[in-house]
This record gives sequence, structure tokens and C-alpha cells, in this order.
Amino acid sequence: MPDLFVAGRWRSAAAGGTRDVVNPFDAEVFAVVDEAAAEDAEAAVLAARAAFDEGSWARAPVAERAALLDRVADLLQRDREEIARTETLDTGKTLAESRIDVDDVTAVFRYYAREGVVEVDRTVDVGRPEVVSRVVHHAVGVCTLIAPWNYPLLQMSWKVAPALVAGNTVVLKPSEVTPLTTVHLVRLLEEAGAPPGVVNLVLGAGGAVGPALTSHPAVDLVSFTGGLATGRAIAKAAAETVKRVTVELGGKNPNIVFADVDLDVAIDTALTGVFLHSGQVCSSGTRLIVEESIADELVAGVVERARRIRFGNGLEDGVESGPLVSAQHREKVEGYVALGQQEGARLLTGGRRPDDPVLQRGFFHEPTVFDDCDRGMRIVQEETFGPILTVERFRTEEEAVFLGNDTTYGLAGAVQTLDVERGERVAGALRHGTVWINDFGPYVPQAEWGGQRMSGNGRELGPAGLAEYRETKHVWRTTRPAAPGWFRG
Ligand code: NDP
Repeated sequence: MPDLFVAGRWRSAAAGGTRDVVNPFDAEVFAVVDEAAAEDAEAAVLAARAAFDEGSWARAPVAERAALLDRVADLLQRDREEIARTETLDTGKTLAESRIDVDDVTAVFRYYAREGVVEVDRTVDVGRPEVVSRVVHHAVGVCTLIAPWNYPLLQMSWKVAPALVAGNTVVLKPSEVTPLTTVHLVRLLEEAGAPPGVVNLVLGAGGAVGPALTSHPAVDLVSFTGGLATGRAIAKAAAETVKRVTVELGGKNPNIVFADVDLDVAIDTALTGVFLHSGQVCSSGTRLIVEESIADELVAGVVERARRIRFGNGLEDGVESGPLVSAQHREKVEGYVALGQQEGARLLTGGRRPDDPVLQRGFFHEPTVFDDCDRGMRIVQEETFGPILTVERFRTEEEAVFLGNDTTYGLAGAVQTLDVERGERVAGALRHGTVWINDFGPYVPQAEWGGQRMSGNGRELGPAGLAEYRETKHVWRTTRPAAPGWFRG
């Protein structure tokens, strides 16, 4: 069955391109998908344009579009095990994580089915009885939705659900490394009754299909989640035709720990915050900033627990962490380990591939902790997107806040303290899009997600995540037309 979906039809790439999909656990090719080129991407954009301009989707009652989202949510739960298994094969993450992802994706569809029908239009009292002034909202138009490989289905759902309920037509572009669950999602959208051309799917290398998706005049909005360099290039490409652009980029996220915490809880929170999904999380708590008086004990606890993380095949019970997503990505992470050592950070654990013979074919990397780090090091400032924790120490609250904000990114951060007022003070001072107090990682569809500073612009999730996909229009109606009479000649 072909994997590209254009104008309601499944098709192969026009030039016949295909791509191997590799399981990061054992480096085996477990699927082959169609690989689009620029001409396929353009066909998808034009199909979305035609469906928006000539179809009824944008003008359909919002309740109809919301009902489609609800049907997709039902279908996601029907196929939960199959989708979770595919996500694990594609990304290497554990089945438990993949199941949570499918449930979270379902919740996103359900949330926007509800949020999409909430009335946001309003009337404005302009102080003139003969004038009816309304602020109304409608779809933006053709939206291209580009997602990364770490949470392939989840990140895509944050875009596609609000875009569709708002009445847009869409072209989906998952990462070439992890395309399979997005193909499954598009099949579910088709089964749920999305009209032809409303949803289109392009699989292909960003460099090849990117220009059509980000600079084609027929595209109105680009929503991108991925790395900073790609985000910059996309924002530039979209600027030529002044498209609406949302970019969700990386992070270098501080986890600030004060001395008054329960040490075991703080150790477990720090460990989960940084090593979940082998650190391939945009909001990963990679920068541990800890009060000096407890630092040695806390760090020793994190190191001891990190050494006990059970690696393996994400499909097997009892496995706690999978590999990195690709050989190329592991090389990038290894480069950062070497850099940290050159910069003088002290390697406490990890920093290498595991010895276990079972793990030799996959792209595994041991959880790595660097102590004696300082803010001038690149390992402290740059996103490694791998299982690397850097440790810095502080003496005062001011210093902790300074270090927590000492990054060009601003995606997420956390403060661990049992002093409620201090927790709120520090949370208030941190310049990050999400701040957790005494936790690290949770999010809900109802609350906005997104970055400050170089972590991006725009928001996903929550009402603001829907507003990104709506145009705002002021309609002024004079009920008693009269000549303005400005010019007297
Ligand atoms: P990339 O920036 O490499 O790629 C992201 C997506 O963009 C992929 O689908 C990629 O396709 C595509 N792409 C690449 N070049 C272009 C182009 N010129 N035009 C259009 N699309 C293009 O990021 P990764 O996939 O490596 O993901 C990791 C990054 O994502 C990290 O920096 C991470 O922090 C960030 N991220 C941010 C999140 C957030 O919420 N802020 C959430 C998750 C991740 P292809 O794979 O085919 O190259």
C-alpha cells in the first residue's frame, strides 16, 4: 500500500523513491516507505489549496469538524496497541511510553473536539446604535505541519487536531526517521471521514520537500517542531510570502534543587527528568542546578540510580529505556561527551556505549553525568538531545535564578523546594514557557506549551494552540447607510 496521501488518494512518489525505516534497537530495516520529492510535496500543497478554496470543509458547521476529531479519538483507542508497537519499533522508546503517547494523542483530539466549539466571536459596542460591530474568526487556510522524531505522533497531534477543528486543510510531514505512526493517523483520519484534500501526507527528506512546504505561495501557515537551525531556515523561507509561522524549537532546561527537598524524591525527579527517552525530549532536565550543601549527596544518588537503568528492546517487559534514534544522532551525542571532557567537566558515569552484548547492534548510549560544570561551557549551553546531565552548584536563590535563566533557550524549567513561597518566587522569575514546582515533565492538553526566546514562538495546546490556526476578522455593519460627507467638493 502506498504511503503518500494526496487529494484523498494513496499514492507512491512520482519519481518512485523509497526509504528504509530502521529499528534503533537492532539497526534492522523493518519497513520501507515511499519517499516524496519536491513534485509530490507541491501536489499535496495544491490539493490542500483546492480543498480549502473549493471544498466545504472550512464552511462546515464546527460541530461536524469536532465530531471528526472525536471519531479519530475512538479509532486511536481501537488501534492503541498496534500504534504503540509501531512507535516503539520506529523510535526505540519503551512500549509503556508509546502507550502513554497514544493515550495523550487521544486526549488531544478529545480536547480540541470540545475546545473547537467554544464560541470566541464577540460583538463590540462602538457607541453608535446604527453600527453592528463583530469580531469573528475563521480558518487560516492551507497549513503545513512538520514534526520531529522524538514524539512523532504526539507532536503531530498537537498541530493537526486544532488545525482541522478550526477548518484548515493540512499537509503533514513527519520526520523521515519516524514516519509510520503518522501514516497510521492519516489512515484513521480518512476512515473517520475527512473529505478528500483536507488531509494530505508527504514523507520525505526535509531538504527535498521542505521548500514546497515552507515557501510555496499556496501555503498560508507553517507549524514546525524541531531543531533551532531548521526552525531558523523555515522562518526565513516562509518570510518571503509573509506566512504565519509557529516554531517550537529546542531547550536547555534547568532543574533547580534547593537543600530543603526530600532527597530521594529529588534524585528520582532529576533522574526521570533527564534520562526519560534517553534524553531525547525537548524539555529534558539536562541542567541540574543544585544548592551546594546537598550537591554531593544528590549527585551521588543520581549517578547510582543512572547506573541501574535497564536498557533493552522497548517491546520487552521490564526494559526502562531504549536506544537513541539513529547512528547519526548517537554520534552527535558522543561528540558532546568528548566536548564536555575537553572543556574540563568531570565525568562521573556513562560517557560511552554499554558493554552488554544484547545492545551492540542498536544505538545505545549510557546515561552520562558531568560534574564541575560551569556556565561558560558549551556542554552547559547547547542542546545535546541525549542522556547527558550537567551539574552546577549555587549558594543563593538569586544565583539559582540567574543560572536558570542563563540560556538562550526558554522552553521549560523546574524548581524543587518545600518552601512554597520560594517555589512561587523562583517559578515567577524563570523565563521559560513551562515551569514545574516539585515535579518535572507533566503537561496536559488544556495548558499551553511553547518556548520563550530561542525556544520558539507561538503556542501549542490550550486555547492559544487553537488560536494559532484561526484568523481574526472585524466585520463592521452600518444599518443606516449614509454618505460619509468628508469631501465637500
Ligand atoms: P529537525 O529540525 O532536524 O527536523 C524536524 C523536522 O523538520 C523533520 O520532519 C525534518 O525532516 C524537517 N525538516 C528538516 N529540514 C527541513 C526544511 N528545510 N524544510 C522543512 N522541513 C525540514 O529536528 P529533529 O527531527 O532532529 O528533532 C529534534 C529537535 O526538535 C530538537 O532540537 C528538539 O529540541 C526539538 N523539539 C522541540 C519540541 C518542542 O516542543 N519545542 C518538541 C520535540 C522536539 P527530516 O527528518 O526529513 O530531515
